Amino acid sequence: MKIKILGTRGEIEESAPYHSKKSGVLINKTLLLDCGQKSFLDYKPKALLITHLHPDHAYFVRHDEKPSINIPIYAPEGFDELAIHIKKKSFKIGTYTITPIPTLHSAKVQSNAYLIKHKGKKILYTGDMIWIEKKYHKLLKNIDLVITEASFIRKGGMVRKKKETGQIYGHTGVPNSISLFKKFAPKILFMHFGAWFYKNIKQARKKIKKLAEEHNIEIVVGYDGLELTI
Ligand SMILES: [Zn+2]
Ligand SMILES: [Zn+2]
Repeated sequence: MKIKILGTRGEIEESAPYHSKKSGVLINKTLLLDCGQKSFLDYKPKALLITHLHPDHAYFVRHDEKPSINIPIYAPEGFDELAIHIKKKSFKIGTYTITPIPTLHSAKVQSNAYLIKHKGKKILYTGDMIWIEKKYHKLLKNIDLVITEASFIRKGGMVRKKKETGQIYGHTGVPNSISLFKKFAPKILFMHFGAWFYKNIKQARKKIKKLAEEHNIEIVVGYDGLELTI
């Protein structure tokens, strides 16, 4: 699988050239995972898979104009009059098998990670998340690469709770993601960087690399335009 990381900036102000575009990952020039920038559609993917309808993952949520996207769009829930496919179980797009896996992230929008299988390779793209419920962990076996978010470097990330419902929302921390995903994959790629990363990017990269050593796992620090093959 050829993977191109199109954007690595989280929902914060733009400040660094290699981390300026919002979330987007292109698989084999065919599948687009999240579309934080309208320009990502210029790659002419065959389908768009959106983890959740926050504007840094689905640019059109914040636009007034009606988006004209003429490829199939998959997301955890519908939006306006867009023809969105809502899938709860595994489905096929050409030779790709896609499994949506619910994630905990927002109190307002639903969110999915996507497990993508193609020609014996398996990747997981999570989008933003706090956690994936235990009952789904059996789906996460033998993944070649996990691509996930790095909004917060601190353990615990930023998790809040709705008083009325007890529902939690927010983002996990990088150490928690590593602890979770090292059980399922030999390699993790981080993107969707938060404010901590931009304060000193060199130091930030070092912090992540240090965690990789501590946890004895391969970690890739994403940047806009990074290409890798698995
Ligand atoms: Zn986000
Ligand atoms: Zn989000």
